[in-house]
Amino acid sequence: MPSYRRELGKARLPFWAAGFVALACVAILALSGWREWESRQVDLRNAEVDMANLAGSLTQHAEDTFDLADTILTGMVDRMEVGGTGTAAVAKIHTFLQSRKYNRQRIRGIFVYDETGRWLATTEDVDLAALNNSDRDYFQRHRATNDRGTLIGKPVKSRSGGQWIITLSRRFNHSDGSFAGVVLASIDVAYFTEFYRRFDIGPNGAVSLLNADGIMLARSSDEDGTYVGRDMSKSPLFTNLHDRPNASVYYFKSPIDGVQRLSFYQLSSRYPILILATKAQDDVLAPWREQAVVRMAIVTGLTLSIAIIGLCLVRYLSQRQRMAAALVAKEADFRLLAEQCSDVVMRIGLDEGILYASPSCARVLGWDPSRLLGTPALAGINEEDLPRVEQAVSSLKSGEAEEARIIYRARHREKTEIWVETALRVTRSAETNEIDGVVAISRDMTEQKDLQDKLAALATSDGLTGLANRRHFDERLAEEWARARRDGTPLSLLLLDVDHFKKFNDQYGHQAGDACLRALGRILAAQVRRPADLAARYGGEEFALLLPNTDPEGCEQVGERVRGALRELGMLHAFNPPSKLVTVSLGGATNIPAHGMAESNSLVAAADRALYAAKESGRDRLLMSGQVVAWPGARSA
Ligand code: GH3
Ligand code: MG
Ligand code: MG
Repeated sequence: MPSYRRELGKARLPFWAAGFVALACVAILALSGWREWESRQVDLRNAEVDMANLAGSLTQHAEDTFDLADTILTGMVDRMEVGGTGTAAVAKIHTFLQSRKYNRQRIRGIFVYDETGRWLATTEDVDLAALNNSDRDYFQRHRATNDRGTLIGKPVKSRSGGQWIITLSRRFNHSDGSFAGVVLASIDVAYFTEFYRRFDIGPNGAVSLLNADGIMLARSSDEDGTYVGRDMSKSPLFTNLHDRPNASVYYFKSPIDGVQRLSFYQLSSRYPILILATKAQDDVLAPWREQAVVRMAIVTGLTLSIAIIGLCLVRYLSQRQRMAAALVAKEADFRLLAEQCSDVVMRIGLDEGILYASPSCARVLGWDPSRLLGTPALAGINEEDLPRVEQAVSSLKSGEAEEARIIYRARHREKTEIWVETALRVTRSAETNEIDGVVAISRDMTEQKDLQDKLAALATSDGLTGLANRRHFDERLAEEWARARRDGTPLSLLLLDVDHFKKFNDQYGHQAGDACLRALGRILAAQVRRPADLAARYGGEEFALLLPNTDPEGCEQVGERVRGALRELGMLHAFNPPSKLVTVSLGGATNIPAHGMAESNSLVAAADRALYAAKESGRDRLLMSGQVVAWPGARSA
């Protein structure tokens, strides 16, 4: 993978990490939410099953109750049709009914009415003569239709007891098939209500018994009889009951109390009745809700902690990355500086091994930086300069100095030797602040050094002849004077002056004059043979030869050699008789230190006097300032 893509990938790491943390948090919350939803659905399913079981059992119970009533009615119809409605038969039936008080809990009462609605017989203790039920709905319906089945009527208030009752009735006929009357069994609504109340269906739950037309026959919580007889046929359950299965779960918002309910209804297969067992959805879900709130609070808390810790880590990561990027940029800057710098940058350890060398090393020293790593930093330094360099390095290592500047010669891989100027500075460990090495910045200063040497030479030499100039002569004279006195050695000086040089110039021109002076300079340079000897142009066409550790005889010999060499050169000078060659006059003097503390210029003065004497005595000769010159003395030669 290209490095820029890798870097880009790394730069996006905090973003991915943040994304991952967010995703993990969302996933945890989503999973928990989904799990809670599942457990809510399970609770609802369980409640549905409970309701279905309850509705099934209660349907069975209602059917059994109605079966009992129906059996009685069937028997009564049979008796009435066989026995007829004659007074004797009726009295017999009444006596029979009175004698048989049925289990009042289930079947409240049994009644027989004739075709006019008059009461013929009953289980109740009432005065029959005053009562007529021809106004009752069931009576009119039996009279109107020939149906001999059982009619479950709307709940009505009992005429005998005043309580709400459910009526089951059958028609009985005369032997000719005409309407003869009605037998009726009543069941207290309270019987069902009491029975339904035994089941725990929650504070807002209800069990209802309705007939197929949607009339409420009984309801579990109906103390004051508010619901009995209520017409529910307009409710959604009944409006399309025919399209619905016989038994099913049914969710609805109760039109009675506005509570969202979960219910199960079951239509009886034998009677036109329907049991509706309902629970308030809130009651079903209350335990789940309580636990879910606690669980979700814990999960949310944990997720929040994960998110906070994750975000802290992400922040830390991005901070670290920013710092690392800044560090990389800074390092790149420094590297660029070190690598683009024309100077050689080296890092040297305490063992004087090279730890880093910048690329310019190849150009300056001729060595590839990689080949220098680990090698001794002081290798290749000129032996003469090495002690100085070592001393500077050891003073840095010992902490005596923080930085040093040294100039020395070093071996170049290809060239012979170069002059190097190095600035050294100690480095310290960031942790301990102990000296851990040195940074050396070196540059090739061979050219400057050459220039310096040239400038130094120019400063001390004469431009025309290349000999030492007057200033240099004066310095050397003072030095040699002091040395001669210190060492007790003789110091000699020869002063030369070209004879009739003015005329030479006049005759041959100034340039020829210069050439003549250069030739003389070469002779002088050739004749001073000892290293300490110095030939100088003293001024104009006057020259000086400083001859340390030379006695008067030696001085004289040198002077004569110069004269001889000049003569051999044989430069024409028409106006310099008698030789008509270029000649010089020389005055020599020697200092004997034992003869006092005279100044160096007294030596010059003595030589000058001897020169003057040589000129005076005919030129082209050497005169010494006497065998012994009086120091300081008056002009004597
Ligand atoms: P003498 O020393 O023998 O007494 O005679 P002279 O002609 O040499 O006398 P003097 O010392 O007075 O003259 C020196 C002359 O040297 C003057 C000047 O023209 C000439 N001269 C001095 N310096 C230079 C120089 O650098 N180049 C040339 N061409 N001539 C110089
Ligand atoms: Mg002169
Ligand atoms: Mg002269």
